[in-house]
Amino acid sequence: MTSFDEQNTVVEDTQNIKCPSCGGNTEYDPETLGLKCPFCGHEMPIEATFDHHVELDFNEAGNNLQHLWNEEKRVFSCGNCGAESVLDAHVVADFCSFCGSSHITVTDQDAGIQPGLLIPFQVSNEQAQAKFKEWIKGHFFAPNTLKKTYRLNKISGAYLPYWTYDSQTSSQYVVRVGNYYYVTETRTVYEDGKARQVTEQVRKIRWHQESGNYREFFDDILIKASHTVEPKLLQKVQPFQLTSLTDYKVEYMSGFLAERYSVSLQQGFSKAKDIMTRGIVNGIERSVAGDIVEVASLSTDYKDITYKHILLPIWISSFHFKEKIYQFIVNGQTGKVSGNYPLSAMKITSLVISILIVIFIVYLFIDS
Ligand SMILES: [Zn+2]
Ligand SMILES: [Zn+2]
Repeated sequence: MTSFDEQNTVVEDTQNIKCPSCGGNTEYDPETLGLKCPFCGHEMPIEATFDHHVELDFNEAGNNLQHLWNEEKRVFSCGNCGAESVLDAHVVADFCSFCGSSHITVTDQDAGIQPGLLIPFQVSNEQAQAKFKEWIKGHFFAPNTLKKTYRLNKISGAYLPYWTYDSQTSSQYVVRVGNYYYVTETRTVYEDGKARQVTEQVRKIRWHQESGNYREFFDDILIKASHTVEPKLLQKVQPFQLTSLTDYKVEYMSGFLAERYSVSLQQGFSKAKDIMTRGIVNGIERSVAGDIVEVASLSTDYKDITYKHILLPIWISSFHFKEKIYQFIVNGQTGKVSGNYPLSAMKITSLVISILIVIFIVYLFIDS
């Protein structure tokens, strides 16, 4: 059931992006960081805000439905790679941006928790396509299918989902502490059949156990909330300048899609805990005096846990080749590029044959 309030929000959302001169839907324009009408070119600024009032209570997340994405969105699910794309309700997706498959259907899945912050695209579609073209040129052995993908303009602006977590931690620990001491030892060595006494300093370790308390506050532990983009590729286009995180506004989504998170808020937090645990272990090892400090047991309490759902921008072009997915991505903020591609067996074979022919001709010349 839709309440009056929700309906009201939906109407407002659509009004935000309507072109005042022709009534068409305007789209977010990375070059002006505002809205632009694709029909008449009318431009409207977006009031970017940086309030960042979006730290939400982790323990309340399960029963707080007001955090759900309440704008009118549709979720498309890919039958091939499983990616779920969140689009404005008036937009229809006809292929999956993450694998290139056209087995994509609209679902009644909700769009999940609404993002609180995002980095708006600063690289335009044209710039991303130019980078794609340049990248393909540099990869002679890529099959022509790739070049066709480029011609089809199958490059999409996608916001990738991330979680960030804050937490106060307090840990009870037991550590094994080792301190060095030296003893003088005498031993017998044989040289040319003669016995000789040698004395030397030998390092020993004296161990004892200590226990104690350790507190540390963790701020903005960043966890990727999906697996659709190959981690290696994503790594290559890092970093994103998180200082540019802007308050989420519906306008930034217009003409773009957001991937729905597939790592849940709880799953994300257990990954964040692994990162915090490593930080805590390091912190304890640094704070306890001793030549060797090893954490033997650790029990941590997490308090005041808050989270944010944030979106980071990439341009992506994906395609299928012999049962494998290949992706090309551009960091939508910095323009850094990475991609993987299949080798064309045909092109490699022809190159090898050409080289053999050249060698054969050279051989004939030398021989004559
Ligand atoms: Zn217009
Ligand atoms: Zn897919």
